[in-house]
Order: sequence, then C-alpha cells, then structure tokens
Amino acid sequence: MKFGGTSMAGTERIRRVANIVRKQAAGGNEVAVVVSAMAGETDRLVNFCREANALYDPAEYDVVVSSGEQVTSGLLALTLQSLGCKARSWLGWQLPVKTIEAHAKARVETIDAPEMLAGLEAGEIAVVPGFQGVSVEGRITTMGRGGSDTSAVAVAAAVRADRCDIYTDVDGVYTTDPRIVAKARKLKAVTYEEMLELASVGAKVLQTRSVGLAMKEGVRIQVLSSFVGDDAIAADELPGTLIVSDEEMDEMVEKGQMERQLVTGIAHDKNEAKIILTRVPDKPGAVAHIFEPLAEASINVDMIIQNVGRDKGETDVTFTVPQADLARAQALLEDRRDDIGFNRIITDSQIAKISVVGVGMKSHAGVASNMFRALSDRGINIQAISTSEIKVSVLIDEDETELAVRVLHTAYGLDAVDEPV
Ligand code: ADP
Ligand code: ASP
Ligand code: MG
Repeated sequence: MKFGGTSMAGTERIRRVANIVRKQAAGGNEVAVVVSAMAGETDRLVNFCREANALYDPAEYDVVVSSGEQVTSGLLALTLQSLGCKARSWLGWQLPVKTIEAHAKARVETIDAPEMLAGLEAGEIAVVPGFQGVSVEGRITTMGRGGSDTSAVAVAAAVRADRCDIYTDVDGVYTTDPRIVAKARKLKAVTYEEMLELASVGAKVLQTRSVGLAMKEGVRIQVLSSFVGDDAIAADELPGTLIVSDEEMDEMVEKGQMERQLVTGIAHDKNEAKIILTRVPDKPGAVAHIFEPLAEASINVDMIIQNVGRDKGETDVTFTVPQADLARAQALLEDRRDDIGFNRIITDSQIAKISVVGVGMKSHAGVASNMFRALSDRGINIQAISTSEIKVSVLIDEDETELAVRVLHTAYGLDAVDEPV
C-alpha cells in the first residue's frame, strides 16, 4: 500500500490512513506500507536548500529533502501502534533500498530485506518512507519528485506482493486530469505501455519510472482513493484503476468489462521550455554540435524540429528542454556559439505540451489529423509536433492548455455522459 502526500497531510489524515491499513491487515494480509511526506513538505525543504546555497550539492539536498518521509513513516507507525497493530518503520538505509549514486534522481538497484520479510511474516506491519534510498557509498539518495510511487513498486517487487495499491487523492486514473476537465472519465484499467506514455507526457498521477519498473517486474498496480468512508468498497474488490498487461486488457475487452477506444487519455505538461537557434549551417554534424553538450550536461531534449533548409544553406533548429534546465542549456549553447555557428537564440517558457495517448493508434490512421483539426477549429496554433507509436504530442501556447485539453477530450469522444437524473 502506498499513500501520497495529500493522504498523509496531518495527524487526522494519517489516522484515516492507519485505519485503511489496519483493515487490510485484519483481512489476513501481510502489509508493507510506503508513505510520502506531507503535502507541500518536500517543496518547503527544496526551498530551504535553494535559500542556503543556490548551487546546492545534490548529496546534501538529498539529506534535507528525504526528511519529510522519515517524519510521516514514524508517525504512521506510531498511529498504527495506537490502534493496537504491530508496526515499525524501516528507513531507506535500514531496509536497505540500494540505489545508484545519482543524487536527487537515483534509481533503485536492489531491495534485499530479509528482516522486514521476517517481520511481515510475524504479523508486523512494515512502514517504509518513500522517495529515499542509500547509495553504495552509504549516503542518502532520493529518487526524483514523485518518487514514492517508485519506492512502492520496488518494495512490492521485492516482497513479491500480490498487488501494489497506490492510494491518492483521486479514485483512479482518468481519461485526463479530473481537476482540469470535469467530464473526465475514470478508467477501469490502463495498459502498462499506455500508462508509461501518459505519465511521461505529464499525467503525474504515477511517477513514470514506477510504471516502467512495474512493467519490468510484473507488479500489479491499482490506483485508488484514500479519501473514502468506512463503507467504501474494499481494495481487494478493485474499486480503482488497474494497470495491466496487454493480454489482461484483451481479456477484459472480450468479457465486455472494458471498451476499446482509439485514444485512452490526454495529458498536458507545462514544465518544458522552447529554444530556437536561428541560421544554423545546414550541413552534416551541425545538430550533433548542438545536442552533444546538452547530453553531456544530462539535459533531456524532448521535441526537435529542424526546418527545411532556407537560403544560403542555413536552417533553424527548434527543440524543448525542461524549464528547470533552460538557463543552463542557454548558457551551454552560448558558450559554443562559434562551434555551432547559429545566429540567434530565442527562448520561450510560456508553452505547454498536449499529448493524446492510446494503443489503438497502432492500427488506426487519422488520430493526429483529428487532433490538428480540432485544435485549429478553436484557433489554437501548433508550434511543434512529435509522435510515437501510441502518442501524438503538440506544443502550444501555455495560456491555451486547459482549452486544448477540453477540446480534444470532446473530439475523441472521451467525455463522461451525464447520469440521467
Ligand atoms: P500523490 O500525492 O498521492 O502522489 P499526486 O498529486 O502525485 O498524488 O497525483 C495525483 C494527482 O494527479 C491528482 O490529484 C490529479 O490532479 C493528477 N492527475 C493528472 N492526470 C491524471 C489522470 N489522468 N488521472 C487521475 N489523476 C490525474
Ligand atoms: N515527497 C516527494 C515529492 O514530493 C516524493 C513523493 O511524494 O512521491 O516529490
Ligand atoms: Mg505523486
């Protein structure tokens, strides 16, 4: 079981979480619980680091930001004990959750937790702080924002859990962020592949890496709400959204439990920034000069467009990077202005990426053209396009994000039908 920040925000909510955990354990289950820091806490800790030293050392940053989860894991263990349950916390270094050394964006390597397993068998509930691990050097690491989801999947894989229930503040995965589109529909199931794509293009309900790990390790995930009353449907009856394999999805469709849709979901991402380099020489090696220094600095480039060469063998190159890396990217490119040979750098952070995702695209044409038509009908200009086998993404003006998501949600027939009164 994993509980996110909103579910853990304050003693009152932790008590509710403890009750959900107690019920699950009382049903004869061995339970490991992964918890996030209280909502807002990690942001607060990140700000402290920035104030202390703008160019902070990621290893010390990890010491600071991992603390939020230490607090909530101890509090949940205490609350469970107060309800008469046997429970104890297992910090990342105690379990241990071994990760690679990349501070602030570590990846789990192994969780080998014989002691915790023995405790589980003896009926003790294990409470594990999410987000944190320990490097080979023995220093605390964290796994990137939203990383508690990945901790939960890693623990589930390590203990060979029947299921990894991710409890959050919505009752499942929807066709789009239900906080933006009131007519978003809850999905009974989503395939790993689609969820991976949705998460990576901005549906932050699950951290992308957690879905990749679950797919690799065959962990069954259910996303469900912790904000439920005592009479709620039990988690074992699967009230939330299941993340399933293609085969399982096919079975569900055959049994009439799921309808096959061309587009499964729509996501948006406002955290990218656009860079245009004008008048780059149109010759072999030119783009390598641009992207090599960015790769060396671990800056992820997402969409790339190289315009058709214009006069005098020159071309404009447009691409996007995470907003947080924009200043660094710009400085690196300015440094190499002579090597690259561009004329001007133009940057824009007021952009958003809107993506439609669905495995149905593999076998059906027209998804992209429907998208372009629907957006143009509302006067929304497309600045860049990228596609994968199961996704089409466009870059638009940030101010038009909500409108674009709503328009596309309707265009692909995803709107929930109002219940008859
Ligand atoms: P937690 O703190 O529990 O990890 P998050 O805030 O990380 O919760 O993720 C839950 C949020 O994800 C929801 O409140 C919702 O606004 C957002 N979200 C974005 N896209 C979707 C989607 N397709 N389905 C459900 N929730 C979504
Ligand atoms: N507390 C961390 C964050 O806010 C990890 C998590 O909640 O998943 O990013
Ligand atoms: Mg989250």
